[in-house]
Amino acid sequence: MSFLEYAPAPESTAILNLKDSYGLFINGDFVPGHGTPFETISPATEKRIATIANANEKDVDAAVAAARRAYEKTWSKLSGADRGKYLFRIARLVQERARELAVAESLDNGKPIKESRDVDIPLVAAWFFYYAGWADKLDYAGLGAAPRALGVAAQVIPWNFPLLMLAWKIAPALAAGNTVVLKPAETTPLSALLFAEILQQAELPAGVVNIITGAGDTGQALVQHPDVNKVAFTGSTSVGRAIAKSTAGSGKKLTLELGGKAANIVFDDAPIDQAIEGIVNGIFFNQGHVCCAGSRLLVQENIHDEVVDRLKQRLSTLRLGDPLDKNTDIGAINSREQLDRIRELSDIGEAEGAERWTAECAIPENGFWFAPTIFDNVSTSSRIAREEVFGPVLSVLSFRTPAEAIAKANNTPYGLSAGIWSDKGSKILAVADQLKAGVIWANTFNRFDPASPFGGYKESGYGREGGRHGLAAYLKTGIDA
Ligand code: NAP
Ligand code: MG
Repeated sequence: MSFLEYAPAPESTAILNLKDSYGLFINGDFVPGHGTPFETISPATEKRIATIANANEKDVDAAVAAARRAYEKTWSKLSGADRGKYLFRIARLVQERARELAVAESLDNGKPIKESRDVDIPLVAAWFFYYAGWADKLDYAGLGAAPRALGVAAQVIPWNFPLLMLAWKIAPALAAGNTVVLKPAETTPLSALLFAEILQQAELPAGVVNIITGAGDTGQALVQHPDVNKVAFTGSTSVGRAIAKSTAGSGKKLTLELGGKAANIVFDDAPIDQAIEGIVNGIFFNQGHVCCAGSRLLVQENIHDEVVDRLKQRLSTLRLGDPLDKNTDIGAINSREQLDRIRELSDIGEAEGAERWTAECAIPENGFWFAPTIFDNVSTSSRIAREEVFGPVLSVLSFRTPAEAIAKANNTPYGLSAGIWSDKGSKILAVADQLKAGVIWANTFNRFDPASPFGGYKESGYGREGGRHGLAAYLKTGIDA
């Protein structure tokens, strides 16, 4: 128990002006869906937030038709500078309504308000500002002369960073001149619907962005729709694989951002205090619901005991609870299904012989929670070392030499990200050069910037989001033509 207790500091929900039910956002208006509506709940209380329309095939058709019309009649007729003006306007409105968006995100998703307020929403605005700047400079993006838009983009996103994933998808698509139909995840539709209101406020021409809510079936109908030119998906490897199969030979351009099992490598010459913070940020940020999370700690054998002890001390100070409390470090797990999966994989880890340690903390009565957990002495063949837990669970492995660290880090079907902690720049560069991972952080972890491309190798998917590379996914360039 800590000696100085914190008084509750809840962020008020009074700033939210939510409707009791939300329709689908098609052609600039909210319209009823033809599927059976569903409820979105707060995972911290299991209380209903709002009723959400469910798009069936007919609605998907209407949304794609609206996007097609908008592409042909308005969006493709605008200059890049004019498209940029809309994107700048959206970015500014996101900033103006930042507090409201942060509260809505924490309520619907369960993530701590300090993360949605200080990380998610500022990055959403940054993504729109960044791509707004590219809209009139596509000829200078290094993608060949006069790159052209693809047409209608179908975008499907997961629940872990609902509004940020929306921004990663919509900002480059619009900057490049495409129109969009986007489906948010079933458990986190709220911030996308508030974003639709922002689009109305920004007077974005009708149909340029359509947001349709629903579950996996809606996503499937959208990506399989014959009139879309581009599919962008972020989510699990299994669904990504199914989408790759179903779009093969259709002529649709495809990008997949899938899972990960990142190694966070700590050498014995690392600044240990910073490394401890980096390990915590790497795996306990957003309850570990992060595709690029540093879920495998590879620590050099001679500092293993010290690092694990200090990590346990640090984790004992993390506060788990109300996502809307400004002191909360660990919020709620997004859904009961995800909680069940984390529990199942953790039990398997224990059964396979790893040593389980869990931070002591009071678990609220309602809602979905999982206390920060470490598995020590994990073998490379163990399922918790190979599969994505997507929760606040760290697997600790050790190594003796840089060569062994590299071999263990690359021993995974994934390849999204990695971290290296060392005092020696030359060692960092030499190791980074041999890691098969799309993003490598040195003496930091989980840092994002719109100018920096993000994406994976192997089962982590293909294509890049962010930076100029992110534009390429939404353009027909000389090479494709
Ligand atoms: P998921 O089941 O793959 O869902 C992702 C999205 O796809 C959701 O909107 C989902 O709808 C929809 N969907 C489900 N089945 C579909 C189908 N057959 N066709 C088209 N769309 C379909 O993944 P999740 O469990 O929500 O998210 C966790 C996973 O996403 C993790 O594995 C994580 O690593 C990965 N992820 C990767 C990145 C990255 O950038 N690489 C980022 C975030 C998450 P419903 O939610 O409504 O079912
Ligand atoms: Mg929810």
